[in-house]
Amino acid sequence: MGEHAEFLSKVVEFARWAIRGSCWEGLGLDGGDVQEKAVELGLIVPCGKDCKAFAAQGCECEEAGQGFAFSPGLEEATDA
Ligand SMILES: [Zn+2]
Repeated sequence: MGEHAEFLSKVVEFARWAIRGSCWEGLGLDGGDVQEKAVELGLIVPCGKDCKAFAAQGCECEEAGQGFAFSPGLEEATDA
């Protein structure tokens, strides 16, 4: 499986998990559950010491290294 196909399969797995767990089976997923699953699938990554470099990817931690940011594959789509 190519790198992109592998990434896409993680996104699909995450979407199915989130929809099933929150809408259909009503497991009451909270932010912690979502974060844990996203980390497991590599969709978000710890920002680490280079937090500022991750700001554009969504990290909003107050102290570098305490937060998470979208992984490179999840950057916002642009028209560029
Ligand atoms: Zn950070």
